[in-house]
Amino acid sequence: MSWRELPIGGIILEAGNSVKRKTGDWRVLRPVIDQERCVRCYICWMYCPDGVIEIRDTPYRTKAGRIWNITFEIDYDYCKGCGICAQECPVKAIELVEEVK
Ligand code: SF4
Ligand code: SF4
Repeated sequence: MSWRELPIGGIILEAGNSVKRKTGDWRVLRPVIDQERCVRCYICWMYCPDGVIEIRDTPYRTKAGRIWNITFEIDYDYCKGCGICAQECPVKAIELVEEVK
């Protein structure tokens, strides 16, 4: 949509329309979770300002044999690459890499 098509004042005409805006297009840095290092503490999930870190019921077995019953995954359609998750992760399991489109 061109800015010329925006309603006057930029008002929102339709509730819940944010799902139609794939804000991941803005991203220049992509957060990548190292599932080996992640200790499933939920901190990234709590801090993400866009609520795009999802908790999946996908089990993960580490190389050392530890089994986690959940996996944290980022919805890249909406992640803006702000880096807060990487900053807050206590075990530095999230790396910001350059986005290649
Ligand atoms: S980079 Fe920002 S928007 Fe993306 S998952 Fe991390 S905290 Fe959320
Ligand atoms: S903050 Fe780090 S360790 Fe905690 S769930 Fe997120 S990626 Fe895993």
